[in-house]
Amino acid sequence: MKIKKVDHIGVAVKNISEAARFYTDILGIKMTGTEIVADQKAKVSFLPVDDTNIELLESTEPDGPVAKFIESKGEGIHHIALHVENIEEALEFMKSKGVRLIDQKPRIGARGIRIAFVHPKETRGVLLELCQEE
Ligand code: ZN
Repeated sequence: MKIKKVDHIGVAVKNISEAARFYTDILGIKMTGTEIVADQKAKVSFLPVDDTNIELLESTEPDGPVAKFIESKGEGIHHIALHVENIEEALEFMKSKGVRLIDQKPRIGARGIRIAFVHPKETRGVLLELCQEE
């Protein structure tokens, strides 16, 4: 499998517009858009930094995965996303190595791109997202 770059770092926040102020007003990063990802019960915003992004995630439902994360760990880094050249190939490779996956197949995430999550038990506690643009 080939990893191209860190696509984004996901940060779980209680309120995107409040949290974004630090990134936009202090760091001067422009927010490129906000969208609802129904599948993840979350509202997400991207803040690009060079060719990677900070992704802010806010739960849209009290029982959503982001809300549950904040409940147990507080606001903070939620996941790291790696841009892979071929997501199907990467998942097949990981399966062949016995890696525990949350998603056996890619699903559509924010920005309409294909994503899949690897179980955090495999990475010493880091939720890892694989993604492939186009
Ligand atoms: Zn993400």
